[in-house]
Amino acid sequence: MNHDQARYGDDDRYESLLSEKDTTRVDVDEASPLPAELTRDELELPGLSEPKLSRHYTRLSQMNWSVESGPYPLGSCTMKYNPSFTEAVAADPNAAVHPDRSPESVQGTLELLHALQDYLARIGGMDAVTLQPPAGAAGEFTGIHIAKAYHESQNHDRSEVIVPASAHGTNFASAAMAGYDVVELPSGDDGRVDLDALRAAVSEDTAALMLTNPNTVGLFERDIVEIAEIVHEAGGLLYYDGANLNALLGRARPGDMGFDVMHYNVHKTFATPHGGGGPGAGPVGVREELAPFLPSPHVRETDGEYELYDPEQTIGKVHGYEGNWLVLVKAYAYIARLGDSGLEDASAKAVLNANYLAEQLEMEIPYDPFHHEFAATAGDRDAADVAKRMLDYGVHPPTTKWPEFVPEAMLTEPTEAEDRQALDDLAAAFNAAMTDDESELAASPSKTTARRIDQADAARNPRLSWQALDES
Ligand SMILES: *Cc1c(COP(=O)(O)O)cnc(C)c1O
Repeated sequence: MNHDQARYGDDDRYESLLSEKDTTRVDVDEASPLPAELTRDELELPGLSEPKLSRHYTRLSQMNWSVESGPYPLGSCTMKYNPSFTEAVAADPNAAVHPDRSPESVQGTLELLHALQDYLARIGGMDAVTLQPPAGAAGEFTGIHIAKAYHESQNHDRSEVIVPASAHGTNFASAAMAGYDVVELPSGDDGRVDLDALRAAVSEDTAALMLTNPNTVGLFERDIVEIAEIVHEAGGLLYYDGANLNALLGRARPGDMGFDVMHYNVHKTFATPHGGGGPGAGPVGVREELAPFLPSPHVRETDGEYELYDPEQTIGKVHGYEGNWLVLVKAYAYIARLGDSGLEDASAKAVLNANYLAEQLEMEIPYDPFHHEFAATAGDRDAADVAKRMLDYGVHPPTTKWPEFVPEAMLTEPTEAEDRQALDDLAAAFNAAMTDDESELAASPSKTTARRIDQADAARNPRLSWQALDES
């Protein structure tokens, strides 16, 4: 008797189990509606064993870099490690809810969304939050549309959005796509907003100023209250780009600084794996006066019942249903688990880690004191060469050559997720790469799967099959 028979007891039962498992059986009509020349009888799938397949994908993943392999200190991007308990919560079978179910039958889902709206509103100092936008950039676009709808409702004809030169490229794009003329505001000598330049830029055409604080080189805009006054006196709104919220969590709130509308990058701040174009979320918070313009549907609670409704002057939909639900579940789980003290701890560590790392670098950091990120300069060396060389030392380099007003910038954000050892290793790699010969820099990276590639071409024309690797 073989093992299978022993397990199933008798031969008949074994046979019947096997026949139930007949995988060749199909439930659909045999006659295909497709033209005969487009159909085939056999599909040439590779015959691979499970170990072979598993090893193939593991090997591929090892050729790449990820936060699972080590720190990923890309300034501005906040590539932090996100705890896996949030994945477990999102993978709970009860979280798999079809978006077309009636609100009465998914009260728990709506309650969670409502609670997350509330958490984010409290964290940002806002009055209402929509969870719909699927990314930070989509949040900007939504927020600027809300600002536009507000101005239109006041019969204000305003055509300009002011964006500091140091802002993320998406700020310029969002304002332009919403139909505004973009007015670029040069940075002051100290890397902050130059108040005189701002006074000169605002006018009755100003719809909004978009700002992040701390800004792109990690500097806190100390004059934020005055900045808000200048913009508000001109009749404009103040937009907060929330990508740098990690520096402020639990300590300061954009709403208290005078911001009227903001987005949150949940994949930077509230636990969602980041990158690869995967689903993210960019909720938008607004002050009370802007709440009637929020996207529809929005979740509200009345006497313990949760419902979806269309805000009175809604700008309409910016994404299907209520947004990327499972991403929002992770954000909720993260905030709920960390609580007030955990969020405050995250911002403390984000700022401490950046300052601890910077302290060990033998490099100039023109703008100081900074918060959760800093822009070091590679001086007379090419920042991209130094970055490639860092790969040979087994660490991922920072963002290079941005922002442009820092020469050969290496914009570095270690994030709150890293421990002291990881920061020491990063610092050692920076310092070694900075002192290596030009010839070593030019030949780097030499220890990675792919060497110097044409980065623009690789992004625009990716070849993603195993054949591409074979040919190279
Ligand atoms: C990442 C980032 C954005 C855009 O956010 P996405 O979620 O990537 O669309 C906007 N502003 C700043 C400062 C950023 O770092």
